[in-house]
Amino acid sequence: MISERMKEQVQGSSIIRAMFEEGKKLAQIYGAENVFDFSLGNPSVPAPEAVKEAIIEIINNEDAMTVHGYMNNSGYEVVRAAIAASINHKYGTAFSQDNIIMTVGAAGGINVIFKTLLNPGDEVITFAPFFGEYRGYAANYDGKLVIVSPNTVDFQPNLSEFREKITPKTKAVIVNSPNNPTGVIYSEATIKTLAAILEEKQKEYATDIYLVSDEPYRELAYDNTEVPYLTKYYRNTIIGYSFSKSLSLPGERIGYLVVPDEAADYENIIAAANIATRILGFVNAPSLFQHVIARCLDAKVDIDAYNRNRELLYNGLLSSGYECIKPQGAFYLFIKTPIDDDIEFCDRAKKKNILIVPGTSFGCAGYARIAYCVAYNTIEKALPGFKELMDECREH
Ligand code: PLP
Repeated sequence: MISERMKEQVQGSSIIRAMFEEGKKLAQIYGAENVFDFSLGNPSVPAPEAVKEAIIEIINNEDAMTVHGYMNNSGYEVVRAAIAASINHKYGTAFSQDNIIMTVGAAGGINVIFKTLLNPGDEVITFAPFFGEYRGYAANYDGKLVIVSPNTVDFQPNLSEFREKITPKTKAVIVNSPNNPTGVIYSEATIKTLAAILEEKQKEYATDIYLVSDEPYRELAYDNTEVPYLTKYYRNTIIGYSFSKSLSLPGERIGYLVVPDEAADYENIIAAANIATRILGFVNAPSLFQHVIARCLDAKVDIDAYNRNRELLYNGLLSSGYECIKPQGAFYLFIKTPIDDDIEFCDRAKKKNILIVPGTSFGCAGYARIAYCVAYNTIEKALPGFKELMDECREH
């Protein structure tokens, strides 16, 4: 018999993953070319050539014992030093290898930091719409996820409600920008206000509140929109970065945490995060891919391909009468569903072989997420179906 806790997890299991399975089934019935699967954030642009070259170079020229061996739980020093130097170069920060912990993607990093920080009953605040997995990550450590309701005007965080939701039990706030599912980038003004509220509340309650910045989409920003680097705005910031999307390596499970020297209890956090990495069973981030990404820190995926998809989908949907904010980053677009029930709307879409995810999964009913990390012609072929859907919703 499985645990009570896992029973809950199985029941609430990710709609997104279920959709992905559904997509595979539909493809078998109708043929893959007739199924428009916008359900999963799996990159559609290949990893840069530099990744392949690095893998080959490492395998051919490096000592196999180093390439495949255990190392410090926090990762290879030389890799962490290269990452710190790269961040410093881009953002004018002053990190060293001692501020970096290699992780098993952003998911691994968030779990490590939540295990490091959370006592049972501690609260973690997030802003709807949010990545639904945060529910499970907080629950893993008996944390309580507190959700700030969405600001559907521009999908910047609702900061007045945020202020009210901070309590003496608030241990962390998790933000994600560029955002999954809206594609919105939190502006510098937003970040400054958010930081000021956190400072004020830390003083009021005499607590430390950590701002965890979940950043798998940092490099996917369009029109040169700036993504503020949060350690510069708030001392107790911890960054969770990932190469899953920035280098199209989601299956390789590689990312890192940045814990600045000035974060409260820095030394204990580093020590605890090392142990958390070990006892969560990760032991360390994948060895080969630590070496690979250290050689590819300046490599980039072809973000123009995502941008072309964004323009086609956004303009196509607008001309069919959909309402949505133009995404500034990531590869998601969040439409207002033309009927109130977003789950029903996504079911209707499925009947046209269009797979999209209800906003309810992201804590935002009445919306749906379209992941446009797909082939350009998938969007071209799906747009008439989106139009029919809108027309049908208007008729009834
Ligand atoms: N955070 C957000 C907002 C995501 O969208 C994802 C993946 O889609 C993750 C975390 C997990 O990323 P990773 O593959 O780096 O674990």
